[in-house]
Amino acid sequence: MINPEYARASSVADAVNLKVAGPDAKFIAGGTNLVDLMKMLVEQPTKLIDISRLPLDKVEETAGGGLRVGALVRNTDLAYHPLVETRYPVLSSAIMAGASQQLRNMASVGGNLLQRTRCAYFYDIATTCNKREPSSGCAAIGGLNRTHAILGTSDACIAVHPSDMCVALAVLEAMVHVTGPGGERVIAFADFHRLPGDTPQQDTNLKPDELIVAVELPPNGFPANYTYLKIRDRLSYAFALVSVAVALDLDHGTIRNGRFALGGVAHKPWRNAEAEAALSGQAASEATFAKAADIVLREAKGFGHNTFKIDLARRAIVRGLSQAARGTPQSQSNKKIA
Ligand code: SF4
Repeated sequence: MINPEYARASSVADAVNLKVAGPDAKFIAGGTNLVDLMKMLVEQPTKLIDISRLPLDKVEETAGGGLRVGALVRNTDLAYHPLVETRYPVLSSAIMAGASQQLRNMASVGGNLLQRTRCAYFYDIATTCNKREPSSGCAAIGGLNRTHAILGTSDACIAVHPSDMCVALAVLEAMVHVTGPGGERVIAFADFHRLPGDTPQQDTNLKPDELIVAVELPPNGFPANYTYLKIRDRLSYAFALVSVAVALDLDHGTIRNGRFALGGVAHKPWRNAEAEAALSGQAASEATFAKAADIVLREAKGFGHNTFKIDLARRAIVRGLSQAARGTPQSQSNKKIA
C-alpha cells in the first residue's frame, strides 16, 4: 500500500520548487501511465504534484513558422487541431494510432514523452528487471521477448519505447522545452530519449527536477508525402510490433529530403542518418526503399521470440516509404493496410 501526499502546483515555478523539495515526488497530469505503475507498485512516489491546472494547454504558432505545443495539451486535442491536421498530418496520424479514445482524451503531450516501457517484466515486481531495480538482471533476455527491441539494445535491457506520437515527433525533428531550477533549456528530440546502455533505469535526459513545458514543431511538416504505418497484433488498442513514420520531400519522383523513424524496435524512436542519406537524390522506388531498409537493419539483433521483427521492419519500411511517396498515407480510422 502506498499513500502519497498530494499537492497542486499553482504555477510552473511552484511545480519545480515542489519537485526540488521532494526528490521522490512525481508530477501527475493525465495519469494514464503513472496510475497503472502505482497500482503495480512499480512506482511508489512519496508525493504527487498535480500539474494538470497549469497554463500549458495551448497550441500556438511560432515566429519562425512552426508550432509550440504546450505540455498539457491532450493527445486528442493535438491530433484534431486544425493546424496539426493540415500542416503536420503525420503527427495527427501517429496519435490516432495509439491507445484508445478515452486514453487519448486524458493523456498529455508531456506525459506521452515520459511514458514507460510496457515490458511485462518491468510491471511484474516478482521478476528481475534492471530498469525497475538496477543490477537485478533482465528477465526478458532469454525470457518472453516477442515485443522487445532489435536495435540499440544492451546486455542490461532490451525494452522498447511504447509511444506512437514520439515516432512522429522524431521524424519531424521536434524540440522539447523544459524548465528546472537552473532555468529553461531546449533538448533536440533525438537527444531526449536514451538508449539503455548500463543505466536502463534512465529513460530520458530530462533531469529529475525538470518539467517539460512545451514541444516545438519546426516549420516543415511534410504534409504532402507522409505516413504513419503501425503493425500490431490487434487493429486497435495495441502497442506497435513495428511502426514507421515517414516524411518525404519529392521533386517529380526524386527524393529531395527523406526521413523515416521506427517505433516498437528500440528504447527510443529509431532513425538512421546513413539510411536517410541513401534516399537523397534517388528515385522514389521500391529498390531505393529496400536499400535504405537494409542499411537500418544490418545492425539489428533478435533475441529469439522477437527475431521476426527484423523482416517485419524491413517490409514495413518499404511499405511506409511507398505509401508516403504515392501520397496514400495509412488511414487510422480504416486500419486495413494500404
Ligand atoms: Fe527490465 Fe528492460 Fe529487461 Fe524489460 S527488457 S525486464 S524493462 S531490464
